[in-house]
Amino acid sequence: MRPGWTELHSSRNDERTDRRATFRQAPRLAIVVVVYNGSPELLIVMGSGATLEQTEHVVARLEEAGAQARVSTGREATVIGAIGERERLAALPIEGYPGVDQVLPILKPYKLVSRELSPDPTVITVSGRKIGDGYFGLVAGPCTVEYREQTLETARAVAAAGATMLRGGAFKPRTSPYTFQGLGLEALDILREAREETGLPIVTELMDPRHVEEVVEAADAIQIGARNMQNFLLLSEVGRADKPVLLKRGPSASVEELLMAAEYVAKEGNDRIILCERGIKTFETSTRYTLDLGSVAVLKEETHLPVIVDPSHAAGRRQLVLPLARAAAAVGADGIIVEVHPRPEEALCDGPQQLPAAEFTQFADEVRSVAELMGRQIG
Ligand code: PEP
Ligand code: MN
Repeated sequence: MRPGWTELHSSRNDERTDRRATFRQAPRLAIVVVVYNGSPELLIVMGSGATLEQTEHVVARLEEAGAQARVSTGREATVIGAIGERERLAALPIEGYPGVDQVLPILKPYKLVSRELSPDPTVITVSGRKIGDGYFGLVAGPCTVEYREQTLETARAVAAAGATMLRGGAFKPRTSPYTFQGLGLEALDILREAREETGLPIVTELMDPRHVEEVVEAADAIQIGARNMQNFLLLSEVGRADKPVLLKRGPSASVEELLMAAEYVAKEGNDRIILCERGIKTFETSTRYTLDLGSVAVLKEETHLPVIVDPSHAAGRRQLVLPLARAAAAVGADGIIVEVHPRPEEALCDGPQQLPAAEFTQFADEVRSVAELMGRQIG
C-alpha cells in the first residue's frame, strides 16, 4: 500500500480529521487525490520544489470548497487530484497557489484507477502476499470446493510448489442450472481450514449481495467473476469492503468497461483491486475463450492496478494452460490464476482445464522462470 493513500482515501466527512493528520506525516513527494461527491476533474501538479505546507495549503483550499481527499505517493512528482463540483473548482485560483506548477483536466472516463492520476504501479498485499510492480502472484487451486479432502490435497500441493494464494469457488456461476452450484457456505469453512493448514490466503467468488458478510469475512480477497463484472450493486458492495478485490473481465466486455467496473469499486473507497484477463468471446472455437493478451499490455498502460491472467478458463483444456501462462508472464502480467485438482477426471466443474495437482510443481517452476526473466519475483 502506498504510504498515505488509504488514509486519505475516503469520501466520508467524519474521517476528514484523520486524513489530514496522516497527510502531515506523509512523505514530501505525494500524490494527493481529492474526492468530492462528484467525479474527479483536475490534476494539480506541484513543482519539484513544492513544500509539504504548500501542498497542504492547496488541499485545505480544496476542502473548503467541499472537497474530500485521497493521497498516494509518487516517485517523481507531487500531484493533487481535485474531484468534484466543476463550478466550485473553477472558481478557485488554483494556478496561483504557491508551489503549484500545472493544473490539468483528467481526460479518461475512469479516474481513480487511471495512470493519469496515479502514475506509479500499485502493489496490493493480500494477507502478506504481494501482487504488482515487480511482485508476481501465483494463484492456484480448484475450480470449485467440492469436498474437504479434495480442497486440502490441492492446497497442500500448490503451497508446496510455491503458490502465493489459494483459489476455490464456494458459489459457482454455472451455465446450466442442473449442474453443481457449489457447496456454498460450507465451502467457506473448508477454505478456512486450507488456509490454516497451508498459510495461503484464499480468494473466492462473491456472487450474491446477500452473501457479502460471509464471503468478506472468510476470504482474504473477494473474486468478482466474469459474469458479474457489470453487476454494479455487487461492485459497490465490495467497494465498501475492507478486503482486496479480484475483478475478472467479462467475456464480452471491453478494456474500458473493465476499468469502469474497477472505478465503481474504487469510488466506494476500496482501491485494492486486482484486474484479471480471462479470455473473451470471439468467432474462434478452438479455445474455450480467446485469451486477449493485448488487453494486458493496454491495461498496464492505462491503470496503476495490478493485472493478472487466467489461462485456465481461456484455454478450456489443460494442454494449453502452460503456454498461455508463460505468455501471460512474458507480456507483463502481474500474476496468474490457475485451476488445479487432485484428480481432474473426477472434477465436478471444469475438469478438462484443471491441472493435475501432481504436475503443478513443474508448471509453477516454468512460469516462475519466465516471470523472473521479466524482472519479477514471486510475491
Ligand atoms: C472462476 O474463476 O471460478 C470463474 C468462474 O471464472 P470466470 O468468472 O472468469 O468465468
Ligand atoms: Mn472454473
